[in-house]
Amino acid sequence: MSLASLFDLTGRSVLVTGAASGLGLAFAETMLEAGARTLMTDMDAQALDTQVRNLKSRYPLVEGATLDVADAVAVDTLVDDMASRHGAIDCVFANAGISAGRGFVVEAGQLENIDLAAWDKVLRINLDGVLHTVRAAARHMKPRREGRIVVTTSIAGLRSESLSGYAYVTSKAAANNLVRQAAIELAPHNVLVNAIAPGPFATNINGGRLRLPESAERMRTYIPLGRVAQIEEIKGLALLLASPASSYMTGAIIPVDGGATAR
Ligand code: NAD
Repeated sequence: MSLASLFDLTGRSVLVTGAASGLGLAFAETMLEAGARTLMTDMDAQALDTQVRNLKSRYPLVEGATLDVADAVAVDTLVDDMASRHGAIDCVFANAGISAGRGFVVEAGQLENIDLAAWDKVLRINLDGVLHTVRAAARHMKPRREGRIVVTTSIAGLRSESLSGYAYVTSKAAANNLVRQAAIELAPHNVLVNAIAPGPFATNINGGRLRLPESAERMRTYIPLGRVAQIEEIKGLALLLASPASSYMTGAIIPVDGGATAR
């Protein structure tokens, strides 16, 4: 296989959740540029519509559909419909997620003061949402003995991260182990499951907190590379994990974090 064909996704069918913004949008752009028919989904119908329209002139193979990943029935229905329209689903990015919206100061008494409604909401989207998406995709990939599932977790799920709050770090740690477990179960079916674990990226998450000047200041000392990541910097790994180039990779949790987890 030539080097170019290792990264060619022509004729492939890809689903991305949380695709109206940030990393999900970057995943969708990457898949489209590599030639894949790409279904972008998000619960924010208006933002999704804007992004799909923007991409349509350059990439006729883009599609959009509103989807709340917390709704298991809706995820199953959308994935079934996609599989029947596209004939197959080759790759799924289970990416939609929210943060607990914490600031830059570790508040005293976080544990005692956990907002249980906020806890439920974060777990429902970041963990249940991943389960719903992975499960729905696997059902279609197993019989074909081919498929790629890529989950966006976080370095906050690899270690304690007091600034991110209990719900977020717990949801992401659980998602990392869901990836490992699914990778083992699905390996005999040649369905590969991996996680991208980002460090701080300048997206809209947390109200765009990571784009603020105080973030830049903080990251100069916190991150070995000394800065917040640009969204484009996620694209290379996304392409690798979706493409034939990663055919011997499964169950991996791969940080893209400027060296943060190396500390
Ligand atoms: P973002 O806010 O820019 O994008 C997230 C998208 O997910 C939004 O378009 C939002 O509408 C959508 N979404 C939220 N809840 C949803 C739901 N229930 N169903 C469907 N869509 C939903 O944020 P981002 O930084 O691009 O986040 C993408 C993923 O990356 C998340 O899982 C996040 O936890 C993870 N992550 C981000 C960072 C970072 O620094 N930006 C770091 C580590 C992990």
